[in-house]
Amino acid sequence: MPTILNGNKVRDEILAELKPRVERCLTQAGRPPGLAVVLVGSDPASQIYVRNKVKACEALGFHSVQVMPPESVSTEELLGVIGKLNYDPAVDGILVQMPLPKQVDSRRILDAISPDKDADGFHPISVGRLVANLPAPRACTPAGVMEMLRRHSIEVSGRHAVVVGRSDIVGKPMALLLLHAHATVTICHSKTPDLAETCRRADILVAAIGRPAFVRRDFIKPGATVIDVGINRLSDRAAVESIWSAAPDLAARLADFDRKHSALVGDVHPLEVEAASAFTPVPGGVGPLTIAMLMSNTVSLAERRLRLL
Ligand code: NDP
Repeated sequence: MPTILNGNKVRDEILAELKPRVERCLTQAGRPPGLAVVLVGSDPASQIYVRNKVKACEALGFHSVQVMPPESVSTEELLGVIGKLNYDPAVDGILVQMPLPKQVDSRRILDAISPDKDADGFHPISVGRLVANLPAPRACTPAGVMEMLRRHSIEVSGRHAVVVGRSDIVGKPMALLLLHAHATVTICHSKTPDLAETCRRADILVAAIGRPAFVRRDFIKPGATVIDVGINRLSDRAAVESIWSAAPDLAARLADFDRKHSALVGDVHPLEVEAASAFTPVPGGVGPLTIAMLMSNTVSLAERRLRLL
């Protein structure tokens, strides 16, 4: 049986390690780390993500600022919001919840965040420093995956890692972090031929695709570590039934779906990972680590601004 890589446990470890660092900011510099979250409009999924981020801030004793401009906000108005937060001395990290409405130029907004306050690691300067393997905030989800591997003593150096997905927020930074950890890295995407065959050569397979249960049994090399970054919300009961048709708890899953009208599934088929040596479940795998790494980035930014490093 493969080992289940428990993201909730790793998240709790990371957060526990941050507590004394937050305390040090308070005692030695007179204030806690501060994180500002900008949420435009009222998208329910974004609201849940932001609520969870604010809760995590409160649990760690951060100063937390929420700015909620209306859905109709313009690029110029949002640039004004970012400008103010850049100059707010109590704010160490700024996060703009994506996606932004169509009329807003997302790239200009992300570029306007001061690189010293780039909690998400998406600013071009942070990305450049990642490419050069220099210190800077790292994109939270891939950084969380690296923590998951490290804390489970999963060897990366010298192994073949295949990353499926080449987005700026997951696939590309993931591939670079694995490369810096001395893996031999292959990046796949929607134009990659023979995807299953390429994946089957992976010692470490990372799926960041955004397609429910896409990675099947024939993608997985026996003994591989399978990291499922995907978070797909299913709203079709038939899809839930089809994915979990062979699961002993199918009836309970369908009852749960009937209550919530949705179910979560990763990019990896949850019943077809038996050949792996270890895998991350969805939910409870990579997901919890993203917020933990956001907190970690914010503490590091605060320490740098408070000259505690
Ligand atoms: P994007 O949609 O930005 O990127 C998806 C990538 O998958 C693209 O590079 C795309 O290729 C590739 N892809 C799509 N279809 C295929 C296919 N059939 N075969 C091979 N490659 C394919 O998604 P994100 O990177 O933002 O997110 C990926 C997943 O991770 C989503 O499920 C998302 O919800 C989840 N996620 C989870 C987080 C967490 O906290 N755990 C945080 C962020 C994301 P191409 O470039 O050619 O189009």
